[in-house]
Amino acid sequence: MNTLLLALPVFPFSSTSEHKLEFSCSSYTTFPKLSSAIALGQVVSRLRRYGVRISGKWSFDNLFAAFAGVDAVGQKLAQKIGGSAQDAFKETFTSVNFQWVDGACGAQTDRCYADAKSFPNTIKFYSKWWATNTLALATPPVDFTLAIHEIGHAFNSRTIGIFNQDVANRGINDKTGFGLTVGAKGQSEVTADLFTNYVLGTFTGPGLGGVNLPGFMDTNIVTWVNLASTP
Ligand SMILES: [Zn+2]
Repeated sequence: MNTLLLALPVFPFSSTSEHKLEFSCSSYTTFPKLSSAIALGQVVSRLRRYGVRISGKWSFDNLFAAFAGVDAVGQKLAQKIGGSAQDAFKETFTSVNFQWVDGACGAQTDRCYADAKSFPNTIKFYSKWWATNTLALATPPVDFTLAIHEIGHAFNSRTIGIFNQDVANRGINDKTGFGLTVGAKGQSEVTADLFTNYVLGTFTGPGLGGVNLPGFMDTNIVTWVNLASTP
């Protein structure tokens, strides 16, 4: 039974809708490229306020989805440790590079869209993935839940694995939810999904063994953030 089921989408941002707000509708039709370029630049500068830099050729929609994930994490952490979402994110993660990669993530047997293996410095997002052993375009490659999931991996890294360890010690081993299945095994996927559901408030019930998952996260989050923010 799926006890960490992640409802999609619950966030007021969409990775596919229009985000070109700089001009009125009439002027937009006249200057679509300018509008798009300005919009991308705005997202880049907003991400900098969270300590997030980017590299690679990001599309607006993908970058905006990543931004929505970063902002959701910042907002949630700020509720617990105070201050702004930007400061809470920066304090916890210091500095992050979101790298766009034109190519496939992982091996042919993986269902991988992104990885945080290069953390503490870099989270990589890929343009393609292996769909039943066929290389396919990921459409869309990034949504905000994917970004939050990868940030969850990064959060564990920042706590030097203590987030994982505490989850395992509590007996939480239910990896349903975000839905990375094949090739995504192990305790770290559990914590990344746990983190995602916590940020989005999408727990649907107690975990296996009746663990109160929101309560477990609330009890420990400040301790983990303190660990994460300690150099
Ligand atoms: Zn993962």
